[in-house]
Amino acid sequence: MGKITLDKVSKSFGQTSVIPQIDLTIEDGEFVVFVGPSGCGKSTLLRLIAGLEDTTRGTISIDGQDVTGAPPAKRGLSMVFQSYALYPHMSVRQNIAFPLKMANEDKAVIAKKVEEAARILNLTDYLERRPGQLSGGQRQRVAIGRAIVRQPKAFLFDEPLSNLDAALRGTMRLEISELHQSLGTTMVYVTHDQVEAMTMADKIVVLQAGRVEQVGSPLELYRSPRNLFVAGFIGAPK
Ligand code: ADP
Ligand code: MG
Repeated sequence: MGKITLDKVSKSFGQTSVIPQIDLTIEDGEFVVFVGPSGCGKSTLLRLIAGLEDTTRGTISIDGQDVTGAPPAKRGLSMVFQSYALYPHMSVRQNIAFPLKMANEDKAVIAKKVEEAARILNLTDYLERRPGQLSGGQRQRVAIGRAIVRQPKAFLFDEPLSNLDAALRGTMRLEISELHQSLGTTMVYVTHDQVEAMTMADKIVVLQAGRVEQVGSPLELYRSPRNLFVAGFIGAPK
């Protein structure tokens, strides 16, 4: 299960209010995209859900359980970063296995889970390589593999494709969508790229200056943007 609920969540850094107040429900299994211009608070919102930042006010629940203030490790979520954060001296196998090793999982269980993740991500032939011997797309897949083996309630992605060239971005978009279909796990995906939002999301959350402008399916936002900002951002006529 992976239902995430934000109830009157706000965030300030010092005197600066970055997120005035957000109420939002992400249903179990949904692919939700946070989209909006640079600096609108997308990463902050994701970090609040991950537990990497504390809310100033409000509560965050996962499957009905209040996790406000709980550390990231207690939330059962996996974050995939844009910068991959792979260990250069470790093989692909060791990189993917790392979180399980930290959790003192049984060796045989680790081996099985790593091979399963590698199979899903087409990395089986690359398990003994180091990150330096991989392409950008393959590195991104290793980072996703490391998230998969933890069997999280939800995956949190922060602009995972922004370092890749346009062709590879298209391929990875498809791969992440396919991964969502095969796993059925909740995914929360941050991007400033309208195309990513429109092609990947079940539900889009359009943000401006830390506020939710509109929530809806790609088709709903395209057909009935609530205001000029949404219309302009989604690229639809109003
Ligand atoms: P986005 O991911 O949409 O580009 P961010 O969530 O990174 O936006 O940032 C939203 C706003 O919050 C920006 O104005 C940014 O400067 C500010 N901000 C983010 N993190 C911090 C921080 N740790 N301290 C102070 N201001 C921050
Ligand atoms: Mg950001």
